[in-house]
Amino acid sequence: MKALVGAREQRDIERLVSKILRDLGNPEPPLHLDQVRDVLALDLKYYSTTDVGPLAEIAHRIKVAGKQLVARPGLMLDVLKKAKLSGLWLPDDRRIFIDQELPPAKHRWIEAHEITHSVVPWHKEFLLGDDELTLDPSCHAMIEAEANFGAGRLIFFGDRFARDALDCDPTFKSIKRLQGNYGNTLTSTFWRFVEDRDPEIASFGLISQHPHHADIGQGPGGEPVHRFVASAGFLARFPHIGSMDVYSLVRRNASWRRKGPVVDGIDILTDATGSAVKFALDGFCNSYQVLTYGRCI
Ligand SMILES: [Zn+2]
Repeated sequence: MKALVGAREQRDIERLVSKILRDLGNPEPPLHLDQVRDVLALDLKYYSTTDVGPLAEIAHRIKVAGKQLVARPGLMLDVLKKAKLSGLWLPDDRRIFIDQELPPAKHRWIEAHEITHSVVPWHKEFLLGDDELTLDPSCHAMIEAEANFGAGRLIFFGDRFARDALDCDPTFKSIKRLQGNYGNTLTSTFWRFVEDRDPEIASFGLISQHPHHADIGQGPGGEPVHRFVASAGFLARFPHIGSMDVYSLVRRNASWRRKGPVVDGIDILTDATGSAVKFALDGFCNSYQVLTYGRCI
């Protein structure tokens, strides 16, 4: 996803996010998105299957297959679901719409994503406000990646999260503490900690099932691994190691506990030159999945 955001666009978006934080008086985490919307004079509305009313004001601007949706805000909902949009931003009215039926934990990310659309000047021409919802798929992927990039910069306060992470011990306990400080989800805090704390050091994050309890976190097709993220240092030194190799380490070092700290130990991965490298493993089960942080020692 990162690769889709050009270096110049990254810099521009970083600057736009810094300006928002400055306009808010460089507050301490967590970021209150309602204050961000105040500063930007943005309005937020929720829609849902049982309340499509808010979509009426968008529907009249959008044509699908040449037909206006004005009389049928319900159709608008179908359009959004089909496009897999969980929110959108309407430039003319400076208004953000969010699908209320999404899990509340996701709202914060989506709101930050839509806020980014609203401040990136070149997004305006791609988004609603025109009378047709026609987006070139590759363009769409690019502006979505840019909005996600901006959302991350915003709710993790630009470079500040990396600095705060570096001030903490590299343990799961620190990840949980930072989650509390920043008010973002445990998984998003986890990814960021792995990627940003000290990118040169080989470290990884794995979200998987519990190796001893198939009812915790097994994928619908029985797959044990959900997501794997690695630091730049890890990718450079262990290009041949995949998520299932890392899962083997988790399996060897997991306890039978169902909740809380469940992975603990030191294990070995072989780097690209054939040297054995020790990794400290620290994993936590939130009773749905196991999140394991691993770091070379
Ligand atoms: Zn978007």
